[in-house]
Amino acid sequence: MKQTMLLKLAPTTEQHQALLETMHAFNEAANSVASVAWAEKTANKFALQKLVYGELRTTYKLPAQLAIRCISKASEAYKRDKSIQPHFRPEGAMVYDPRVMSFKSLATVSLLTLSGRVLVPFLFGTYQQARMGAMQGQADLLYRKGVFYLAVTLEVSTPELQESSDTLGVDLGIVNLATDSEGETFSGEAVEKTRKRHHALRQRLQKRGTKSAKRHLKKLSGKQARFRKNSNHVISKRIVQKAKATGQGIAIEELRHIRTRTEARLKRSQRSKHSSWAFAQLRSFLSYKAALAGVPLSVVDPAYTSRTCSQCGHCEKANRKSQALFQCIQCDFRCHADWNAAVNISRGIGHGAYCSRTRLAASPRHSCGGS
Ligand SMILES: [Zn+2]
Repeated sequence: MKQTMLLKLAPTTEQHQALLETMHAFNEAANSVASVAWAEKTANKFALQKLVYGELRTTYKLPAQLAIRCISKASEAYKRDKSIQPHFRPEGAMVYDPRVMSFKSLATVSLLTLSGRVLVPFLFGTYQQARMGAMQGQADLLYRKGVFYLAVTLEVSTPELQESSDTLGVDLGIVNLATDSEGETFSGEAVEKTRKRHHALRQRLQKRGTKSAKRHLKKLSGKQARFRKNSNHVISKRIVQKAKATGQGIAIEELRHIRTRTEARLKRSQRSKHSSWAFAQLRSFLSYKAALAGVPLSVVDPAYTSRTCSQCGHCEKANRKSQALFQCIQCDFRCHADWNAAVNISRGIGHGAYCSRTRLAASPRHSCGGS
């Protein structure tokens, strides 16, 4: 499995300048190659090389290997979408391969720049140390808010999947970000509280509309995204650890339906609350953490998971009384709607075949006292 690891570089002022100059020249040159690709209607690297190589070496002063990487960058972008001429930001990412980058010691990397090779220190912890052996030959040089990073590709081996006869179903929701089939909720409480605070602040700022308010808004959206990402990491880690410890596999709903299903449940005022990317992110964290832990992960068609009774199998839309409440029309079983869905997911229910008035063979493992 491929993963990406970020190394934060700690260049000297001189090295910083050299890297930045190189990045600017590289992207400016890539824009020039893109304009040739666009004019000639070709994404062929060899054809482009014949047309632009000399200019990249003389006008942009790119070393030979960087000139080749630059042609690749423009050619690949044009190949992806031939309807527009690609344009690159001055501080767009640069690919470094082993011909222009090498790790010299445990904490320095040699990178080719316009002014020759520079030996740049990078910040290094146990997390990075444990993964250096898995590094593949290529990395992206990134520049974010005045800081250089190397995004290195890792080839991570995944353990064999553990045997499991039981499955932990996980329902993704809005109020509870995740609910498992054992009734544990991975709350959105903290997330929700922060979201409300951010939302109020956002509205005040939008009303103000000044330049500084706009700056503040931009900062806020980044903060919110980081907070969401962190919650998703914490939740997915806990779910995978639980499944691993209890020898269970994990089942989740297929992605493409999550948005429509959860939105259908929501009142209009709630709709702005969640964004589908947050679910997609939680789901992708779950999948890769499960793979790394050797926990089997399956996906279930979510068509009927929320309206099928986990006690008697009766399936009807009216079973779902509200966002939070499930109450079976047939057997009067009541419980939290997310938990009912999670139990169904753990059994792989979701296909039309299951949505009949027949009783389920499996007896429920839990009662839902009190609710
Ligand atoms: Zn029922």
